[in-house]
Amino acid sequence: MAATAFPILGTEPPVVEFANTLYGDGDRRIDFLDTAARIEEWFALVPLDGGVTAPAGVMGRHGERVRAARDCVRALLCAAADGRGPGRAAVERLNDLAAAAPTYPRLEWTPGAAPAVRRLDTVAGAPALLGRLASGCAELLAGPEPVAVRRCPGPGCSMLFVRGHPRRRWCHPSCGHRDRQARFYRRHLARRPT
Ligand SMILES: [Zn+2]
Repeated sequence: MAATAFPILGTEPPVVEFANTLYGDGDRRIDFLDTAARIEEWFALVPLDGGVTAPAGVMGRHGERVRAARDCVRALLCAAADGRGPGRAAVERLNDLAAAAPTYPRLEWTPGAAPAVRRLDTVAGAPALLGRLASGCAELLAGPEPVAVRRCPGPGCSMLFVRGHPRRRWCHPSCGHRDRQARFYRRHLARRPT
């Protein structure tokens, strides 16, 4: 079987890539984390904040928990992108996820090198990884450097991305290309004699 093509942009913070595993709306919604195998595959492909990766065989066993966390961060990032208030339940769920996985700073400083801090987990397994994603979501929305979360306006696209510079309009240049094509065909067809 061909490898599952995930909607991974490769340019976004891990929590935004996580939110994008639910693609589309309504009847055309695709859940890219619908099986244990896909969950394992996604977590193997996307390193989380701090370069942390999931050990094999851990996340796939927590499908319901993973999808609930994904739905929660997607709801909050969509609320930010749409400029509306969040649902209270999503805020509470995010805080519960983060509270279940506190981290602590570890100073790493050796002679001749600059001091560095790594954040280490106090718990292991799925709660630690989902906690990192939840903390990443809170910091993205309200940290020292809050960012602009946007929905891609590409035809049929529902991807979220962080607009790092004002000229970025699409999740990926290919969406801009498809949009220009769609507009070209609309103009072309409108001019055709009937
Ligand atoms: Zn797009």
